[in-house]
Amino acid sequence: MSQSLANYSTNPFDDDKLREECGVFGVYGAEGAAAISALGLHALQHRGQEAAGITSFDGKGFHTHRAMGHVAGNFDRQDVIEHLPGSTAIGHVRYSTTGEVSLRNVQPLFAELASGGFAVAHNGNLTNAGTLRRELVRQGSIFQSTSDTETIIHLVATSSYRTLLDRFIDALRKIQGAYSLICLTSEGMIAVRDPLGIRPLVLGRLNDAYIVASETCALDIVGATFLRSLEPGELVVISERGLESHKPFQQTRARPCIFEHVYFARPDSIFDGLSVYEIRKRIGAQLAIESGVEADMVVPVPDSGTPAAIGYAQASGLPFELGIIRSHYIGRTFIQPGDHIRHLGVKLKHNANRAQIEGKRLVLIDDSIVRGTTSVKIVQMLRDAGAAEVHMRIASPPTRHSCFYGVDTPERSKLLAAQMDIEAMTKYIRADSLAFLTIDGLYRAVGEDARTNTAPQYCDACFTGDYPTRLVDREDVEQPNQLALLAERVI
Ligand code: SF4
Repeated sequence: MSQSLANYSTNPFDDDKLREECGVFGVYGAEGAAAISALGLHALQHRGQEAAGITSFDGKGFHTHRAMGHVAGNFDRQDVIEHLPGSTAIGHVRYSTTGEVSLRNVQPLFAELASGGFAVAHNGNLTNAGTLRRELVRQGSIFQSTSDTETIIHLVATSSYRTLLDRFIDALRKIQGAYSLICLTSEGMIAVRDPLGIRPLVLGRLNDAYIVASETCALDIVGATFLRSLEPGELVVISERGLESHKPFQQTRARPCIFEHVYFARPDSIFDGLSVYEIRKRIGAQLAIESGVEADMVVPVPDSGTPAAIGYAQASGLPFELGIIRSHYIGRTFIQPGDHIRHLGVKLKHNANRAQIEGKRLVLIDDSIVRGTTSVKIVQMLRDAGAAEVHMRIASPPTRHSCFYGVDTPERSKLLAAQMDIEAMTKYIRADSLAFLTIDGLYRAVGEDARTNTAPQYCDACFTGDYPTRLVDREDVEQPNQLALLAERVI
């Protein structure tokens, strides 16, 4: 890793959140496909702020531009877009969890295969990429990056099947984990969602063109109409022949990431017919039902706690107030600060609204607690500004397990809820009380009653440890008996 890149961070103060790894976007059949992709990626910027890239195809060749940093500043430049001609393009925004911070890991990844050019953009994380990579290297493959996504390219290149589509499907059958992939070939675009549907992928229409994106907010920004979500395990080929849908996997019970509803997705996105904003309000209402407390007002930790706080306030009858004001002008293309200003981080991002909260008993709503470091600072900040009581309510169950499906989580030993019970956590963050949403409450808020189902409908592994796939590369991680966990849930 070069020193300059090692020091590069886009959000140095926001170190106490789970972070979505990537967002993907693709357009087939629209003039200026790269410019449309840049807009789509801009709407997906919350899914990855470290780097961005676009690959286009103009009927003659492939063109790629990849850069560290945000979409704006890299892809709003005329000279960049002019060098990405064609009516088909795919794009990617990235926050790395697998692979070092380096331009060679920025996607789309591209390779000239025997069957022609092949570019791929990946949201998710493969849980057996390390094992497959060792085997491929042993057989002679030479990797250009440390990204798990490159494994897919090598599997396609070395497949014994004849057509590119068959080779790709052959590769997919060997990988495990979470993947929403958009690929570009000289024939067209291929998009696929893993058999469990862990990461999202939606399909839209822009006049005669097709759009594929991680979230519907990326369709809205380019004026596309939302057609539907890709089904878990569905693969679509978009070419001159139109759109063909394939189901190359054995059907299995879907397990989409429930944390998309809690935090990752933009609140204006729609998943499987559910408004993310509406779900977050329902989560807040459920939290009020489960752990109401006498207080004067409900205050969100902005912005991610805001919809749940609105739901909590509506259900509890308490007023909703912006007791914390967030600055939107930090954490953008920052060079890592030295220790002397690092401790000011939380104040640069959040400031207490003293006039509103002085002498008041607050219900403070946040979406989750990861390490707890930010919670400590925010509770102290509110007390310093004169809050009489701070009752913290968390709009998700305790995060006790790491994610291996494309989300940046600390090791278990760094997760506060994996190390302490509620009483100890309350003391640690110095709140007057602390309560989390229950897992059943979360399922109720997303419209599923976990007690009447025979199996969970979502991946909820960071709360329960019930990983929906084998973690082939992580035999060191405890992978509890899934049936025992299920019994615990439905008793
Ligand atoms: Fe989502 Fe958590 Fe499952 Fe990761 S472990 S996919 S964050 S629910």
